Amino acid sequence: MAPIQKECDYLVIGGGSGGLASARRASGMYGAKVMAIENKRLGGTCVNVGCVPKKVTWFAASIAETIKEAKAYGFSVDETAPFNWSMFKDKRDAYVKRLNGIYEKNLKNDKVEYLHGTASFVDLHTVKVALDDQTEVSIKAKKILVAVGGYPNLPDVEGAELGITSDGFFELETQPKKVAVVGAGYIAVEMAGMFHALGTETHLFIRHDTFLRTFDPMIQEKVTAEYERQGIHLHKQSSQSKLEDIGNGQKRLHYKDQNGEGTMDIDTCLWAIGRSPELEKLNIDITKIDRNEKHHIKVDKYQNTNVPHIYALGDVSDSGMELTPVAIAAGRRLSDRLFGGQTDAHLDYTNIPSVVFAHPEVGSIGLTEPQARDKFGDENIKVYTTSFTAMYYSMMEPEDKGPTSYKIVCQGKDEKVVGLHIMGIGSGEMLQGFGVAVKMGATKADFDRCVAIHPVSAEELVTMK
Ligand code: FAD
Ligand code: NDP
Repeated sequence: MAPIQKECDYLVIGGGSGGLASARRASGMYGAKVMAIENKRLGGTCVNVGCVPKKVTWFAASIAETIKEAKAYGFSVDETAPFNWSMFKDKRDAYVKRLNGIYEKNLKNDKVEYLHGTASFVDLHTVKVALDDQTEVSIKAKKILVAVGGYPNLPDVEGAELGITSDGFFELETQPKKVAVVGAGYIAVEMAGMFHALGTETHLFIRHDTFLRTFDPMIQEKVTAEYERQGIHLHKQSSQSKLEDIGNGQKRLHYKDQNGEGTMDIDTCLWAIGRSPELEKLNIDITKIDRNEKHHIKVDKYQNTNVPHIYALGDVSDSGMELTPVAIAAGRRLSDRLFGGQTDAHLDYTNIPSVVFAHPEVGSIGLTEPQARDKFGDENIKVYTTSFTAMYYSMMEPEDKGPTSYKIVCQGKDEKVVGLHIMGIGSGEMLQGFGVAVKMGATKADFDRCVAIHPVSAEELVTMK
């Protein structure tokens, strides 16, 4: 059967954070004729297998921690009360499904034509879409946005496919009793923290002595030490050689760590070692779009690729910041530029705040201390740090008290804040407001001029000496 022919001003490939934001703005706000293609579920990684189900699980883990801590405040609670993982998962899935529906409705409201199917390039202006019923649609577009996101990597280890990735985490029907989590970035640290808080025996395998190594050294050291204090089993200087199925749903992991070689029998092995761009089905080579050594599409600050009418953003691009609000902001600004007459609209990729939903949370914006020293020279950098026990822990035994640490990195005579790194209860919510100040170019004196709110942990950030 001959493919159905369609035409549009703007074709958006990928119905995730960046693609949907850009499509809706171009059509809803500027009236462009827009089509959006998605081959899995609307909302993309964030909504289906990322931020959203992750944060809901993080809330569950935080409640588990609060239940343990409640005794210190005089409550008689059963600390061993079981967590009903499958009931929780069903509710979480239903919530995500509701969001999928809302995303589809939003596209309709903004008059974006949405097709569910897999897109691949035919030539520089034509994309074919294989719909679910095998019908083929051929779309001619004046402008094309590639916003296809990424997928989780598997390591080059024998039997790696017997493990799961973050996608599989959200499919677990029952709670594993014992897990090995391999990796040292956002996902490994967040998922190990959640497993542990919910009562799973958790082994975290990292290649070096600390995790979150792209963060400020204070964060790396303090959070790694805190995970050990909480009882997460850290395997440092580790590598894995094999994962095997030993029956009864059990796996055996062969590894090396700081103590030598070993094997461990586990229910689940979760690989969280980074992500790669999802380009396999896109027939992207035909476009001759430039990519970097990790296959990310190279873009300039306007999200332009080397092909004049093809753009890329979000996780598939080489922006280096795989975060939902980054993809959304880049997508909206791109549409402002292409269809809204804002000729210079683009996302400023400096000073973007981000939070790791570890236990406790970590927040970071701007340069780490080593980056600032490298960039401006030691003599131009002044660093303020503080570590203290948050008042929440005042009712607890010394061994149950969690850490709080903050660092402000300042540059030059007027002590402009060029980096802010915080860990402790509430850091996630706290960082957004401080992020505004840093983005505006606040100095240490500006921080200090703001009268403290008492008693909150954040007051330390405006009273540091
Ligand atoms: P995506 O959201 O991945 O969307 C791309 C879409 O394109 C996908 O739906 C895919 O199915 C579709 N697609 C791919 N190929 C084709 C094709 N050929 N045809 C049609 N459709 C196609 N970020 C945060 O800011 N905060 C968080 O707390 C956070 N937590 C995360 C937790 C996890 C476990 C993970 C994995 C990520 C998390 N992220 C978080 C990162 C965030 O999810 C991503 O940065 C964001 O989703 C990227 O958006 P995107 O639009 O680039 O791609
Ligand atoms: P990351 O890139 O954050 O971290 C992966 C880390 O795993 C590497 O930095 C490396 O650390 C380690 N690693 C790499 N290869 C191996 C290997 N073969 N064996 C063992 N360890 C290895 O990737 P993630 O998968 O954690 O997350 C992907 C992205 O998703 C993040 O970068 C982030 O942008 C986004 N995200 C954001 C979240 C948020 O905003 N809260 C939450 C989750 C994800 P080392 O060099 O130290 O070994």
